[in-house]
Amino acid sequence: MHIGDVRQAPVTAPTVTLCLDSKGALRAAFMEAKTTEKLADDDKRWSKAVSGVVAAVLMSVPLLVILLGGRSIGAPGVWIQTAMAGLRQGSSDHSLLHSSSSHHDRLYGGLLIEGFNVQSCHSRYQSAMYRRTAGRRPSPYLVSKLRRHEALQRRCGPGTAAYSNALEQLRSGKSVASPECSYLVSISYRGLGNRLLAAASAFLYALLTDRVLLVDPSNAMDELFCEPFLGATWLLPPGFPLTNYTNFDIDTAERYGNMVKNDVFGSDATDASTAVQQVPAFAYVHLNYDATLEDKYFFCDDDQRQLRRVQWLVMRMDNYIVPGLFLVPAFQDELDTMFPEPDTVFHHLGRYLFHPSNHVWGLVARYYHTYLASAKKRVGIQVRIYGALPDSPALLEQITTCTQKERLLPEILAEREPTISPDPGAKSIAVIVTSLKSCYSDELKRVYWEHATATGEAVSVHQPSHEEYQRSGATSHESKAWAEMYLLSLTDVLVTSSMSTFGYVAQGLGGVRPWLLYKPANSSAPADPPCGRDVSMEPCYFKPLSYDCRRQKQWVDPSTVVPHVQGCHDAGWGVKLVGRSR
Ligand code: GDP
Repeated sequence: MHIGDVRQAPVTAPTVTLCLDSKGALRAAFMEAKTTEKLADDDKRWSKAVSGVVAAVLMSVPLLVILLGGRSIGAPGVWIQTAMAGLRQGSSDHSLLHSSSSHHDRLYGGLLIEGFNVQSCHSRYQSAMYRRTAGRRPSPYLVSKLRRHEALQRRCGPGTAAYSNALEQLRSGKSVASPECSYLVSISYRGLGNRLLAAASAFLYALLTDRVLLVDPSNAMDELFCEPFLGATWLLPPGFPLTNYTNFDIDTAERYGNMVKNDVFGSDATDASTAVQQVPAFAYVHLNYDATLEDKYFFCDDDQRQLRRVQWLVMRMDNYIVPGLFLVPAFQDELDTMFPEPDTVFHHLGRYLFHPSNHVWGLVARYYHTYLASAKKRVGIQVRIYGALPDSPALLEQITTCTQKERLLPEILAEREPTISPDPGAKSIAVIVTSLKSCYSDELKRVYWEHATATGEAVSVHQPSHEEYQRSGATSHESKAWAEMYLLSLTDVLVTSSMSTFGYVAQGLGGVRPWLLYKPANSSAPADPPCGRDVSMEPCYFKPLSYDCRRQKQWVDPSTVVPHVQGCHDAGWGVKLVGRSR
């Protein structure tokens, strides 16, 4: 996403221009990336890029035939047994980590628990079977924390006496000294990727502060996902007393930033009863892109102490604030124990929280079996298009140069070179492109049909939908978006667009450190370099607080405070979590 980019859907769909006038330009991009070295050298370089173990496994799998330019022939069921133990994506890619038995760990190392109704949510216990990599293991502490949180949601969530009491308290407008249960309501708005990152961030904050998480069901949030908590709902039920809470914004009087300015809590309220009187029944925490400095004091210890006393928090954010939580001193020990690998926060929380509903899972599973299952390598390319921008030959060139240069897709042979028949022993590669426009995948498909690959590999290119423009809130549109994010997360190699939360969700769920398509300096020329490997699979937090609360709120580079919070490659001012060893 872009900071402050409202990205309203146009009233009428934009005219779709012809994708690429420069057929020659694309071919030139492919050919330019092709080196003059012989095929044997290419093979040597390729095999260097994959670990020896993986190469051995790849060679041992049954041969799969793919029709050039056509659809892969799925072999439902068989792929699960024959699937190679995966390439680990994330901290060290291409290293073989998981045997096929761990590959079938449908509970993701204890993130999930048995006991849910299987029919009401097929994805919950099936999704692990669609992944070639088991992903990273959650820490035992995180697992125990999740179990405790589920118990909290059951004890205090909607339908319980504690919930009714808390609603009464909210209606009365009065605070209570030691509330039995505290709550966090997360507003759902903007595109789906933004909403998922906001929900995951809110959940982590709820875990850290023992609050019941209730997600605003609007924008189809109630239709796209299964319930994550056994025996409790995560959706805010109808009848919430703050009837206009979805409109809370920078102008809302109860905004925490306002309270800070107005010293609502009192600076030195030591007497318990006085302090309670000063505590409002709820506070609105505004961590949106336009949050003020006072709003962002949320990330300071003193402010967290005040907020703890407020029974109801309503929170709006369009950002992944998790790196900011790692900068709060009071949370650091707990976070370190929960996430000994800090670059796995969204990976684990996303897999824990976001299970596609049966309708969406149908979209995922059918597409997967039809187009991806039988391929030996799956490549996902996410091309984020904003508004009514015309199709861009420069962007197409950027994509092709990136995938060629980084050897994510095989080089093509020039037309005049002798055609090599597809080698039935060679890898088949399925490429899934997601985009609002069809142009980019059409061109890739055309090129791999019209040209043989230098390696003899067969490359098929697929795109599930091209919705033309963003229509957030429309259920069928959102379902496709969610299904496509999920499909991208099932790929072995991922190319994503800079600053897109759509791509962030896919990479986190998949456990894949993506190749980032850099933003070009101007829109008429491709970015140079076209892409680079991201530093971690974690999403970027675009607008962190860059002030050190402990040093009188002076400006500070967050990475000097917490070394595993580093700058993002795609957003200079943003920060993200990286592995500890970096
Ligand atoms: P971001 O704006 O790139 O950060 O991602 P979001 O997911 O928050 O918002 C973009 C929204 O536009 C998505 O949620 C979809 O509604 C739509 N969209 C953008 N790209 C695609 C795409 O490739 N496929 C589909 N189906 N929808 C898309």
